[in-house]
Amino acid sequence: MSRFLNSRYSSLKPYVPGEQPKNISEFIKLNTNESPFEPSPMAIKAINDEATRLNLYPTPTGEPLMSALSKRYGVPTSRIFTSNGSDETLAFAFLAFCGKDKGVCFPDISYGFYKVYAQLCCVDAMEIPLDKDFKVVPEDYFNSGRTVVIANPNAPTSLALTLDEVESIVKNNPNDVVIIDEAYVDFGAQSAVSLIDKYDNLLVIQTFSKSRNMAGERLGFAFGGEGIISDLNAIRYSFNPYNVDRLALVAGAASIEDEVYFKQCTEEIIRVREYTAECLKKMGFEVLPSKTNFLFAKHNAVGGEAIYLALKAKGILIRHFAGERTAPYVRITIGSMAQMEKMLYELEAILNEYK
Ligand SMILES: *Cc1c(COP(=O)(O)O)cnc(C)c1O
Repeated sequence: MSRFLNSRYSSLKPYVPGEQPKNISEFIKLNTNESPFEPSPMAIKAINDEATRLNLYPTPTGEPLMSALSKRYGVPTSRIFTSNGSDETLAFAFLAFCGKDKGVCFPDISYGFYKVYAQLCCVDAMEIPLDKDFKVVPEDYFNSGRTVVIANPNAPTSLALTLDEVESIVKNNPNDVVIIDEAYVDFGAQSAVSLIDKYDNLLVIQTFSKSRNMAGERLGFAFGGEGIISDLNAIRYSFNPYNVDRLALVAGAASIEDEVYFKQCTEEIIRVREYTAECLKKMGFEVLPSKTNFLFAKHNAVGGEAIYLALKAKGILIRHFAGERTAPYVRITIGSMAQMEKMLYELEAILNEYK
């Protein structure tokens, strides 16, 4: 820290992303919930075709992506927001809907960035404990008097609330914005997008990073009432009107239009996830029922950190979260079937050493 840093950031603890090793080809990366599959071939073609136009600024209105999203989700463009990764929408939402007189609340075990944004925006944060089964208890968020942020499905637990449960939280915070972060919703959970017509306090955030195989493209989108979306645009136009670049706009549109490939990829992840979960259970793991592209699992004899380190030594990266409740667990991203077979093979060998 230099002596020039604004004193309000003297205790800022920045987000720590999962390891991104330099020698990436030496590792099987199952640690940051990326997709093992390439982007849609249509998205790759769109990027190549667009490259010659990079001398021009992108459209600040988000076309052609906006129209593609509007058509796919049946939502008018006035209720859609696009951003440089969904993290950016989250940051804009913290700026727009939290402040000195408006705190924020979120689960005590969830996406680590929520706490960082609260600090960055100097907002009072209340962390609400998950129950003993790692579930979000909807009633705990009723009439919170704060902006509510919930990842659904949640990370790293992989558990999802039902649409009715999400609706109960939105309905019972009529004077506060409820942000539902649906980064993983395409892997089997229910989306709350259908509720945006009914509630003007709901913001639903999604991303191209997980189910659309484009974490490297940095592209997120969100749905909400016109009021909320226009507030987010006010922040965006005060920060960076060209927040989504030309390549992302065309790649995003092409990806949205390639529904067949999207279905194929997400269905394969779900199939491999269920297979992997069964194998882990046979090896002595307790595996939480996942609606995401990762598994959160605890072994009956070996601790989370030991498993993480042993797999890393074999060239397989998974994620371990320190913290009283999460420490016994590991979070394993679902890769290709071949990657999972290799991971399971190495894991079996590691566990045998403990017998
Ligand atoms: C991955 C993830 C994000 C961030 O997604 P980007 O679009 O890559 O910024 C947001 N929320 C949760 C819960 C995530 O897991």
